[in-house]
Amino acid sequence: EGYKNASKHIAVLAFPFGTHAAPLLNITRQLSDACPDTMFSFLSTQQSNNSTFSKNHDKIKPFNVWDGLPEGYSFRGNPHEPVDYFLKAVPGSFIKAIDAVVSETGKPVDCLITDAFYAFGADIADELNIPWVAVWMSGPRALFLHLQTDVIRQHVGINNPEDKPLDFPEFSGFRVTDLPNGIASGDIDAPMPALLHKIGVSLSRATAIVANSYEELDNTVVNMLKLRFSMFLNVGPFTLVSISSSTVDDSHGCLDWVSKHEAASVVYISFGSLITPPPHELQALCEALEECEFPFLWSLKGNPEKQLPQGFLERTSSKGKIVPWAPQQQILEHPSVGVFVSHGGWNSVLESINGGVPMICRPFFGDQQLNTRTVEVVWGFALGLEGGTLTKGGAKKALKLILCSQEGKKMREKIRVQKELVCKAVKPNGSSIEDFKTLVKLLQHLPPS
Ligand code: UDP
Repeated sequence: EGYKNASKHIAVLAFPFGTHAAPLLNITRQLSDACPDTMFSFLSTQQSNNSTFSKNHDKIKPFNVWDGLPEGYSFRGNPHEPVDYFLKAVPGSFIKAIDAVVSETGKPVDCLITDAFYAFGADIADELNIPWVAVWMSGPRALFLHLQTDVIRQHVGINNPEDKPLDFPEFSGFRVTDLPNGIASGDIDAPMPALLHKIGVSLSRATAIVANSYEELDNTVVNMLKLRFSMFLNVGPFTLVSISSSTVDDSHGCLDWVSKHEAASVVYISFGSLITPPPHELQALCEALEECEFPFLWSLKGNPEKQLPQGFLERTSSKGKIVPWAPQQQILEHPSVGVFVSHGGWNSVLESINGGVPMICRPFFGDQQLNTRTVEVVWGFALGLEGGTLTKGGAKKALKLILCSQEGKKMREKIRVQKELVCKAVKPNGSSIEDFKTLVKLLQHLPPS
């Protein structure tokens, strides 16, 4: 119905894994509020749409794209497996879905917005003769490195056992092992690394590249990217440039619980939407929490009784709270939270900055190691762990350093400075708001179809 009266139709192609579709939907909502005569069709897998579309939106309609899974497939715990199946089906699955959307709605597509992972967005947009806007969900540093893939491979080789410093001026203190997987290590011909390799060529064909970050956070890298692309816009954090209000789901009473504690005293733990650390690391973290006696709130997937050491839940019941999902952004904004134990996912980094909470990072894959090194050595408001994994001693040391030492205080001051910058960026006339306006203008002046 809405399509008939709409003057424009924009198709949005989401990446349905990790925390990618939710922030893309977020920015789509804001664009929809700013472009009221435009209809948005949001294409993702059924599973992803079911979890991100909690409420209906008049002007944004979800459409399902095939997940690529073989019939009868059952998930066996390897988070990369469904991604590989999905990527084997693209771009065909998306082309088919776009055709279906157009015939169902009777409205041709005027502009394509995709997750920037989708290098093939350039070809689809060309085929339809419409502009392509690519949305990069991670930090500018990760994007910069993916664009340099060929250069890096020439310099350091592939799967070279020797770990060298990275040879870019903006990356002092970074090593080859900090690179996102698939650039110089791992199976570089696997679907994900192969796709990311292609964005180096494709993204320069995009009309605009939009990043979920704010300019001031990583200024020098942002400037390098601005030189490379005709329009590189930082309109993040997507959750903060929001003009539409959203309700907070706190069905487990996390905020109430956090409120009962002193300022900057609570340890908040979450490893994002995909990861649970291996059993021995969970055990080490539990032992560290028990010995330090800091109050903790833990967002843990699955059954805690089965995953955590015997008796841990009973012994810590007065100190700790474990929930399957927490309203993370609001938790980190609460003054009682003193430290965030995280996997270093990009959304978590942005939310930690917004809350002014120093981090302890235990990275696993993708850009997490790069983010961890960045927050540690460039921005100085987080700690990595000795040996890169959770041990009882390492976790205790890091928790105490952040919560009880002068050094921890300094880290808190550093992240507070970033917090001020991000607040400014999303206020009227702030850099993210200005870039958002540029993006809206672009969408309002699409060529007539
Ligand atoms: N998150 C949440 N509650 C939880 C765990 C995670 O709201 O209990 C949200 C968190 O606020 C963030 C996202 O899930 O927005 C995690 O994104 P990130 O990029 O850090 O990690 P990923 O899920 O992609 O591994």
